[in-house]
Amino acid sequence: LIFKKVPSCLPVQIKCLPVEKEQTLIVVKPDGVQRRLIGQIIQRFEQRGFKLVGLKMLQVSEDLLSQHYCQLTSKPFYPRLMEYMTSGPVVVMVWEGHKVIQSSRMMVGHTNPAEAQAGTVRGDFSLHVSRNVVHASDSLEAALREIQLWFPGKELLNWDCIDQYITCE
Ligand code: ADP
Repeated sequence: LIFKKVPSCLPVQIKCLPVEKEQTLIVVKPDGVQRRLIGQIIQRFEQRGFKLVGLKMLQVSEDLLSQHYCQLTSKPFYPRLMEYMTSGPVVVMVWEGHKVIQSSRMMVGHTNPAEAQAGTVRGDFSLHVSRNVVHASDSLEAALREIQLWFPGKELLNWDCIDQYITCE
């Protein structure tokens, strides 16, 4: 099969609305990995229409984590947060798409699972704020900073979804 890029005149993409392409950082925290929730979390982002451009599993260092959570160092729960986040491997991802930062915060739900709506990741899979399964960047500035921190250099990939192509004989 030969794949040919769809001419821009075909109605494959929404042409009449501006697309605000963004990237955001999503982390499946140690409890999410230990409870085998990685696949379900990835599925929700794929299903929504976002594109995965970076993915890795790692045991996060205290150094990286302290940079990631640098705004929370004075919080009383900070030592417990560090212990929790280093208690096992995490899966860190970069997702791309229209308004992905805002949408993923909605998909992830309230920080405190007790206040997270059903249908959100935290509302469906967690009970307590200290084990809330997933992280999502909360602003454009945070997303830029966190992506640079977790995926330094040229680790992110650029690729086209299959629905941007037509097949030819
Ligand atoms: P979010 O992850 O929703 O952006 P924050 O940035 O406020 O929320 O907090 C970062 C993480 O710190 C939370 O996801 C949660 O794991 C942990 N955390 C926040 N508040 C508490 C708390 N009161 N007790 C224990 N852990 C907390």
